[in-house]
Amino acid sequence: MKNHAGSRKRLMKMKVSKRIDSIEESGTVKLTPVINRLREQGKKIINLAVGEPDFKTPKEIIKRTKEALDFNKTRYDAAAGLDLLREKIAGNYDCKKENVIITNGSKQALYSTFQVILDSGDEVVILNPYWVTFTEQVKLAGGEPVIVDTTGHRPDIELIKKNITKKTKAVIINSPNNPTGAVYTKQELEKIANLVIKHNLFVVSDETYDELIYDDKKHFRISDFSEKLKKQTISVNSFSKIYSMTGFRTGFAAADEKIIDKMRILQSHLCGNVCTFAQYGALAAFDLKKKYYIRIRKELEEKRDYAYRRAKELFGCVKPEGAFYLFAELSENISSERFAKDLLKMHNVCVVPGEVFGSPGHIRISFAASMDDIKKGFDRIKKASG
Ligand code: GLU
Repeated sequence: MKNHAGSRKRLMKMKVSKRIDSIEESGTVKLTPVINRLREQGKKIINLAVGEPDFKTPKEIIKRTKEALDFNKTRYDAAAGLDLLREKIAGNYDCKKENVIITNGSKQALYSTFQVILDSGDEVVILNPYWVTFTEQVKLAGGEPVIVDTTGHRPDIELIKKNITKKTKAVIINSPNNPTGAVYTKQELEKIANLVIKHNLFVVSDETYDELIYDDKKHFRISDFSEKLKKQTISVNSFSKIYSMTGFRTGFAAADEKIIDKMRILQSHLCGNVCTFAQYGALAAFDLKKKYYIRIRKELEEKRDYAYRRAKELFGCVKPEGAFYLFAELSENISSERFAKDLLKMHNVCVVPGEVFGSPGHIRISFAASMDDIKKGFDRIKKASG
């Protein structure tokens, strides 16, 4: 009896780490179970929140995944990923398979990157608005996020310069951008590249949306600019969005061999390897024809055009050039958290409040939903704003 009481007391005294206490739950991921619960209650929720395409995973990818299961590709494999898959990715990134690691989505590629490059107190420049996970993963690695505002969603080089200190270790860039849809021009990236070279920093380049670009704009990879930059850049990417494979959790990082090797060692303790049959499925993505990409872009561009037309009637907003988000500015005295909550409660439409991306006063509207949902969603948003 005495012992039990003692251990209860000890348990109550046990505390979780300061590190985990310092981070917030992902404001995007946490919405999925909320929407699911409301749907189970019979509510017809329109989901314009989570960045998940509504088109089906290509048949070829499903087929190859099933075949992998039939051939018992159900065991452990190398921590860095299937050689075949690494080689295919290396072909796209103009590097060797030793420069590539397969990760559980781009999320884990980022997590491992920060664990590998940051020491306690190192600073990382993050451009605002930013994807919710960047700041938290930097903190998890003991780093300090340094938030630098953009101007009309464009990187402000002078401001970035001002925020570089002796402690700066890396700059994160994310083009096409989540949540704004901005696609950085070659000139903008060159200016960032010069800074990075001058101060000897890492660039963490999140290229998850690189295939989703509209109006014949082009995605430039900062690592392609020079051999030096290639050594200093960790590019992360994902199969999730362009192939609608969000549940496969298959992404990757491409970087200098030394960095990738450290990530591999970390991965050997963290998760072993990415789901083996998911990786075989991902291999089929390399057999898809050009017309696949053209169709997806065309469909999303139409949705972008529609969403932008409706959004600008109601809010301040910049036309997204890529990805599938629209970052709308509410009028001055409206709290975006309140607006998003009321929109969900009273009009059954889910969007993400700007606070999640470091920019209160905004809402992120995803146009990756079906056209029907986008139309109905905007009708309801209009009612809520009226
Ligand atoms: N990346 C997507 C989004 O921003 C999926 C959720 C997440 O991982 O944040 O909505």
